Amino acid sequence: MDKENKKEVETEAFDNTSSTETPPKKEFAGLFKTPQEFAGQIREAFEEMGIDVFVNPFEAMSPGFEAKAAAKEAENKAEKSDGPLQAIRNFSFKPKEIRDYLDRFVISQNEAKKVLATAICDHYNHVRRCLENPELAKREFAKHNVIMLGPTGVGKTYLMRCVAKLIGVPFIKADATKFSETGYVGYDVEDIVRDLVKAADGDVEMAQYGIVYLDEIDKIAGRSSDSGGKDVSGRGVQINLLKLMEDTDVKLIGQTDMLGQMQAMMTLQTTGKAPPSLISTKYILFIVSGAFGNMKDIVKRRLGNAQIGFHAADENKADDSDSAVLKQVQTQDFIKFGFEPEFIGRLPVRVVLDELSADDLEQILQVAENGILQQYAESFAGYDIELKCKPAALREVALRAVQEKTGARGLMTILERLFRDFKFELPGTGVKQLELNVNLVKRPATELKRILRLNAEQTEKLKLQEVYEFARRFEEQHEMKINFSDEAALWLKKESGKQNKTVRGFCEERFKDIHHGLQLLASHNGKKEFDFDINAVSAPSEIIAAWIRDSLKQKES
Ligand code: ADP
Repeated sequence: MDKENKKEVETEAFDNTSSTETPPKKEFAGLFKTPQEFAGQIREAFEEMGIDVFVNPFEAMSPGFEAKAAAKEAENKAEKSDGPLQAIRNFSFKPKEIRDYLDRFVISQNEAKKVLATAICDHYNHVRRCLENPELAKREFAKHNVIMLGPTGVGKTYLMRCVAKLIGVPFIKADATKFSETGYVGYDVEDIVRDLVKAADGDVEMAQYGIVYLDEIDKIAGRSSDSGGKDVSGRGVQINLLKLMEDTDVKLIGQTDMLGQMQAMMTLQTTGKAPPSLISTKYILFIVSGAFGNMKDIVKRRLGNAQIGFHAADENKADDSDSAVLKQVQTQDFIKFGFEPEFIGRLPVRVVLDELSADDLEQILQVAENGILQQYAESFAGYDIELKCKPAALREVALRAVQEKTGARGLMTILERLFRDFKFELPGTGVKQLELNVNLVKRPATELKRILRLNAEQTEKLKLQEVYEFARRFEEQHEMKINFSDEAALWLKKESGKQNKTVRGFCEERFKDIHHGLQLLASHNGKKEFDFDINAVSAPSEIIAAWIRDSLKQKES
């Protein structure tokens, strides 16, 4: 969802269930004389900020509202006692179990899975124990916030999404670059926590145990001290984030959040109770990530060329891949990169993700649960087309994807390019199965033409059916029946083909106004069924006009 342009705002108090009753005239402490005035003011304020909101204050002001609010509160309480928080109270995963779960969805990245699974268990075991024993909660505890290093598309976000889903905690992803633009006023670091509450469907308590994922963290590093000077805005963002990552209370309603302020006021006035106003970040787990493009040079320089490849001592072949170098990163390298020591100090768990090889990409296509290929299969299934894949073709796709150098995203690029025309051309042709084979990968256009040719006869039959389908929809919509003669139906099918249009699009356009004329006719003689022969379909307006003239004449005589 594009959060910057459109925010969906939903609350119980503004539940927009339509009401046909006259709204009660209840004054709001002199602030707003009428519900309309209240709604108008909110809408106006938000329109100025470029946000569309729908506000129905009647529901909130109706006499039954207090009772409803009390019932909802009781429901919430009941939910909370054995509801979502229970997932954390019952947290019992062991690191290896989390690793096993991740193995089903995420290919390779074994080291990352191990480190992450352990950090997650450490964090949620601690949270669970603090919930059980409030004394423990008072003791100092350094959170296991994580920093992930690795190129794009290798599974950094995906790993965290999978983990959050497994544990059942809310998850939010944001780009750290949002905060770094100078003069940017709309989004401050605390908004991430507020967005986490939205991700938890407004459940503040649950959000307090959620996971915040901040991508592109390398972009808020100040310039390296080597290249002279520090980037002030990046430093400022780091300091702000630092507070969040530790333990701070964030106001649930931001200063620019006018609707939030109004809602809080309404809740207070209607229920007599103020909604929660703060959220603690004490148990929120922060994961930050980035590609850290130049970091390997910093590490290499520190190590000196002789030591690059940390298996050099015990293995014949030194591993000097980017990830092998990054795995030796130390705090001093992060500082040199442009991070504040205090900031990097709050990220004790370091995870380096590997680039994905052609073999890995092939595995993603073949074995990963809910993988990329399955998403394409689903798209085709939406048109009743079954996608079947040959292993050799998947190998070919993986080999092409690896050249894109965008990790698993390369698979999407290749598959999208391959399937684009198939997704456009095949629906409506009657093709029931599509085989992804080497031919299709190598010459998609030729393969598509071949499939279309093979199915041409079937496609023509379906197009003819579409003509009658149009008549059926017309009847449903206008309660008037059109009977196309066989000749007329054939003409419509042929003509749409000549104009390179679908039968549906062609008929919709051709007959877009005829219901007015037919309704007039129906009002003259009560007829609700009309026969359209070839003359009627080739010049519908003229023919209907003639029918109207005839019917008027008949009426007069
Ligand atoms: P990034 O490392 O840039 O955060 P993502 O985790 O967002 O990349 O990966 C994009 C998509 O690619 C994921 O949604 C997932 O479908 C797929 N993907 C990436 N890495 C892997 C992997 N190691 N195993 C399986 N799928 C992956």
